[in-house]
Amino acid sequence: MRYVSTRGKSPEVSFQQVLLRGLAPDGGLYLPIEWPQFTVKELRAVLGDDFRYQALATEIIYPFVKDSLDKDELSELVHRSYGSFSAQDIVPMKRIDSKLWIAELYHGPTLAFKDIALQLVGELFENQLQKSSENITIVGATSGDTGSAAIEACRDREGMEIFILHPHGRTSEVQRRQMTSIHSKNVFNIAIEGTFDDCQDLVKGMFADVDFSTRINMSAINSINWARVMAQIVYYWWTSMQTTESGTVNFCVPSGNFGNIFAGFGAHNMGLPVENFIVASNRNDVLDRFFRNGEMELREVAPTYSPSMDIQVSSNFERLLFEVFKRDGRLVEEAFKTLRSEGSLSVSADTLSEIQKKWASYKVTDQETLQMIEKISDECNYLIDPHTAVGVQAAERYIDVSQAPIISLATAHPSKFPDAVKEASGISPSLPGHLQDLYERKESYEILPNEESIVKNFILDQMRDQ
Ligand SMILES: *Cc1c(COP(=O)(O)O)cnc(C)c1O
Repeated sequence: MRYVSTRGKSPEVSFQQVLLRGLAPDGGLYLPIEWPQFTVKELRAVLGDDFRYQALATEIIYPFVKDSLDKDELSELVHRSYGSFSAQDIVPMKRIDSKLWIAELYHGPTLAFKDIALQLVGELFENQLQKSSENITIVGATSGDTGSAAIEACRDREGMEIFILHPHGRTSEVQRRQMTSIHSKNVFNIAIEGTFDDCQDLVKGMFADVDFSTRINMSAINSINWARVMAQIVYYWWTSMQTTESGTVNFCVPSGNFGNIFAGFGAHNMGLPVENFIVASNRNDVLDRFFRNGEMELREVAPTYSPSMDIQVSSNFERLLFEVFKRDGRLVEEAFKTLRSEGSLSVSADTLSEIQKKWASYKVTDQETLQMIEKISDECNYLIDPHTAVGVQAAERYIDVSQAPIISLATAHPSKFPDAVKEASGISPSLPGHLQDLYERKESYEILPNEESIVKNFILDQMRDQ
């Protein structure tokens, strides 16, 4: 399997290069040159009685990586990745009513869906670095959940150092502590005086500085990394196969950087029957506005109860645009140039109506978020976190549009955002056992201004000290 850039100007590369590099040299994101094809029936037949998450993951991921790993090796990495999960099923399902299911993606070590991809990416990185005897420096930006999941996936591993930039004061306390209480000699936390988008721009800027990024052998673990999207494709198949024998479902996904829901679209391109994808946004509604009027216009980021979705530039949206533009990289490049220079990009009316055949979207306010947490707590005796609640709100609005069931993704454990959950439901969700003493653990992190040169120097200094 070879990979192409969404901007069409970089040479095709192997999975090995895609894994460690993240961004393509022309500024685009990588996608497989073609989508491997499966059917539900065929997967059920192949798995037989071994219908477990790990076995399904191995089948689905294998075609993407088969040039660098054999199937047994992959299977071993997959099993190791999900060994740290607290749910037997990895992604268990909860039925909320006859047509609505919630898929719990939060049973990994840091309590958010990002563990599902990052635990595997950590294994894949280590496997590859051992084979090539290379060292890499991972630099990533986080709005909260990616950082802790990435740190947890990379801590104490050989051949890698990890620097995570988070927006100072804009993550939840649990999120911050999950990052800053890890004391490992290859882990560095940086609090940037700015927003998540500033953090993301810093990382992009460092990548674009070829001297710098080559010098530190820089690698990305952000959701632009193809391997993360790839690992997420699995649970779209898994949850759909739990919900229906072979029928069609809808997926509703609380979205920010668009990596999660794009993985669903990937699964669909691989043959999974999906009627519609429902994009759920909070007040930061750049995606909702795009799916309604075909224009993506950047605005200020406003803090909400669902901070992991407080984003105005959805990086993975570029991958969707590439597919929408029939894989014409020139059009993608033009669109993003316009977005940079004019603060907006738009598609034609025809393109928009084509998109709307498969995509719906809703915007959910903070108040509606709290109301949904309360409602689900009262009616189902079940706690959901604010991100999940944004999704369930959107799913409920969509419920009469389609005959098919809706699978709404639960992206974080309620105890990761205890203040909002308590405010809405009156119940304080407790942290799972392995994190019970989180509030007592010692923290360490560096606060830096939103300036690329200062951040670069900090990284170089730390590396010199090693
Ligand atoms: C990252 C995150 C999201 C947004 O996912 P994207 O892939 O960025 O769209 C939603 N909810 C939670 C809890 C997250 O951590």
